[in-house]
Amino acid sequence: MTTPPIDWHARAAAITLPVRPFIDGRFVESTGAERFDSINPAANRPVCTLPAGTAEDVDRAVAAARRAFEDGRWAKATPLQRKAVLLRIAELIEANADDLALMDSLEMGKAISAARAEIAFATGFFRYYGEAVDKLYGTVAPSDGITLSLGLLEPRGVVGAIVPWNFPLINAVLKAAPALAAGNSVVLKPSEIASTSALKLAEIAAEAGLPDGALNVVPGLGPTVGQAIGRHGGIDLVSFTGSTATGRLFMTYAGQSNGKPLLLECGGKSPQVVCGDMADDLDAVAARVAHDAFWNQGQWCAAKTRLIVEDGFHDRLVEAVIRAAAERVPGDPLDPATNFGTIATRGQLGKVRGFIDHARTEGANVAFDGGTWGETSTAPAILTDVRPDMTVACEEVFGPVLSVMRFRDFDEALAIANDTAYGLAASIWTRDARRTQAAARGIRAGRVTVRASAAAGEHSGFALGAEPWGASGFGIEGGMEGLRSYCRFKSVEIVC
Ligand code: NAD
Repeated sequence: MTTPPIDWHARAAAITLPVRPFIDGRFVESTGAERFDSINPAANRPVCTLPAGTAEDVDRAVAAARRAFEDGRWAKATPLQRKAVLLRIAELIEANADDLALMDSLEMGKAISAARAEIAFATGFFRYYGEAVDKLYGTVAPSDGITLSLGLLEPRGVVGAIVPWNFPLINAVLKAAPALAAGNSVVLKPSEIASTSALKLAEIAAEAGLPDGALNVVPGLGPTVGQAIGRHGGIDLVSFTGSTATGRLFMTYAGQSNGKPLLLECGGKSPQVVCGDMADDLDAVAARVAHDAFWNQGQWCAAKTRLIVEDGFHDRLVEAVIRAAAERVPGDPLDPATNFGTIATRGQLGKVRGFIDHARTEGANVAFDGGTWGETSTAPAILTDVRPDMTVACEEVFGPVLSVMRFRDFDEALAIANDTAYGLAASIWTRDARRTQAAARGIRAGRVTVRASAAAGEHSGFALGAEPWGASGFGIEGGMEGLRSYCRFKSVEIVC
């Protein structure tokens, strides 16, 4: 029997969105009266109203997280008990997939088909880290005959997690799953642009058997709730994902409070280098180039928005990438046929168009511009004749704008690729073994993919972690190394 297609507009009209802070296992009222609207960018009208949040809300959440940590209800549960809960969370995410996808689509304009497909990442991360709970080993060090020298991995305590809006559910999961797997308690702040799927996640986790206080979600504004988490003396580690500017504020918050350690996953300006020896795979390469530049309307941290192409292959590749870009047609995010959603906010849309206009004044050629879709989105744009020093080649656009540059010899390609303050990711397309080696080792980025484009789960499951460079932040996220990021390493000597 086939399931009838979902009428997403009808479902959107009927859905009840969680809007209150989730603290100590239940939804509670914020201590503050100030509220803000979460705006559906496609319809330009409020989806829901949320509390702006207060430092007292954060205090309550930290106190609940601390109680849960200190009495050991989660931190000292057996590895098998913790694993069972995390795997159950994955099952319940799947059971609630349609509502979770709808929340993200409504709040930040992601096409519903994309939001629905992304649920597999959220369940994948919970399954990966659920399975990892009983495979996280410390060390036994060499010692003399009477000493047992152990390296223990312990939870850090209360983890503050701050996330952006571009993948609202996945960003929350990427913090919560490893932090919980390591035995920590979590106080998570979603972005004010898209908060509801993270609140729903907290409710789901409680239903899955996560003890009260182990996962608290406090919605609100950055300068209130975000800052209160950053400065809180009761938080042992902050794991932040967002812009470089805000990430650096968290360094200040930490330095001015309890000196808590940080994991910072910040912005990027990632390159993709394409060599002429890939000409036989023209359309396949162009499709991946377009995907990596324009996925999520270009609103992803590792968007590969600097295309560096070997001179003799430049024109053919650009034509093929334009064909691939033209297939991305902005439309109503709730129409399952839409393959390109809206830009998350009006302000961001203006910023993206501003980058295109400014690039023109700096001498770039606008080779393709799908233009705007009503007042809510912009189609992909492809700029050629871009020089590495132009604003559009240096600054993160966080929108669907691809800057194309040429290279003549491979050293020049690597130099352009590395000519950035950022270092999140890079792709190299070549069949030449020497170039592959040179790029894999020479590119300053946390994730380098060769003859492939990167998406968590696609090639290596969820097993690969990465550490960003420079302005993109620091600390490992993903894989077993990312799980260790949420652990404290303690050495123990037992003299017998
Ligand atoms: P942002 O820095 O504006 O906000 C991120 C989070 O910080 C939000 O929860 C926000 O409320 C909070 N915040 C904002 N101002 C604050 C303040 N003064 N004090 C404390 N908290 C504050 O980023 P954004 O616009 O939500 O997201 C886009 C950025 O995130 C881009 O730069 C993108 O590259 C980056 N990003 C990075 C990764 C990664 O893994 N490296 C992943 C996704 C997004």
